[in-house]
Amino acid sequence: MKLILLGAPGAGKGTQAEIIAAKLRIPTISTGNILREAIRNETQTGLEAKRYMDGGMLVPDDVILGIVAERVAREDCKNGFILDGVPRTIAQAQALEDKGVCMDCVLSIEIDDAVIERRMTGRRVCASCGASYHVTAHPPRAGGVCDACGGELIIRKDDAPDTVRQRLKVFHEQTEALKGFYEKLGKLKLINGDQPIEAVTRDVLAALEIAQ
Ligand code: ADP
Ligand code: ADP
Ligand code: ZN
Repeated sequence: MKLILLGAPGAGKGTQAEIIAAKLRIPTISTGNILREAIRNETQTGLEAKRYMDGGMLVPDDVILGIVAERVAREDCKNGFILDGVPRTIAQAQALEDKGVCMDCVLSIEIDDAVIERRMTGRRVCASCGASYHVTAHPPRAGGVCDACGGELIIRKDDAPDTVRQRLKVFHEQTEALKGFYEKLGKLKLINGDQPIEAVTRDVLAALEIAQ
């Protein structure tokens, strides 16, 4: 199973990716998480990406494509993977097709900007593994630490309301057109993201024809 999760920032891609990845025993490739780790480790890629990310802009396509090529070539991806947050431009999508990274299905998690702006103020992420939480919709079992790895939960700098609005603008200008791209390839399915997490998961599994 090779799956792409498409959707605006905060649509719930990371949350759903984590659930499906565990169920299917395939890895999630989140370019956002990989870039944040690169920033923490102060690598060359991290240094280059930081200024784009802090400003709510997209990181250049060549940086992203290098990251993805390296990641999908690893052993744990041989039975499939979930792409979370990539591709984000037509150029990225086209490059994946050209490289023969052929996806089975593209799910677009649909949700209004206003709902996202409200949601993002409550997002908390694990500083170690990148897992996503929410103060009310998806709180951690123990306050302030990650269920999965015990890491510290933090607020992402780019989840500040102004930066969220900028990221939504970039989504509509540069990423939303991917729906048409994958629709033409006959791979696109739409998922209603404005429902509780479990209901979204139910619809995702149904769209993928996987038993609940
Ligand atoms: P969200 O899940 O809220 O949409 P991500 O973690 O996917 O956020 O991305 C955070 C930031 O990382 C983006 O605003 C962008 O700067 C950068 N980024 C992540 N993935 C990509 C990508 N595929 N192309 C360009 N920039 C990316
Ligand atoms: P994305 O990866 O698309 O940026 P996340 O999965 O990180 O989005 O979700 C954004 C925020 O919304 C997180 O705080 C997450 O816990 C919360 N969230 C995710 N799905 C839902 C949902 N269906 N209902 C309410 N909150 C949600
Ligand atoms: Zn964690």
